[in-house]
Amino acid sequence: MVEPICFKCGKRMSAKTNGVVAEEMMTISDNEGNKSEQPYKLWSADLWECKECGQQVLVGFAQQPIVESFEKNKYEEVRNKIKTQIFQFK
Ligand SMILES: [Zn+2]
Repeated sequence: MVEPICFKCGKRMSAKTNGVVAEEMMTISDNEGNKSEQPYKLWSADLWECKECGQQVLVGFAQQPIVESFEKNKYEEVRNKIKTQIFQFK
């Protein structure tokens, strides 16, 4: 894999943390049209950083999620075991 390139600095980024957990959220609307974010999938990804400006990106997502929210019990079990920071994205 070619390293991510910082668009601002034009420099190759560096791997900061491999195997971070990223939680994909989805927007749910209820019958009254109120929207809320709910957990959807947990992914393993790699955090890269630009040493010049500090810009960070999540790349290198696994082919499959670690677990999906329809597996409710397993999802909570896995999520509760994760002690590191969990990045959320939509
Ligand atoms: Zn940069």
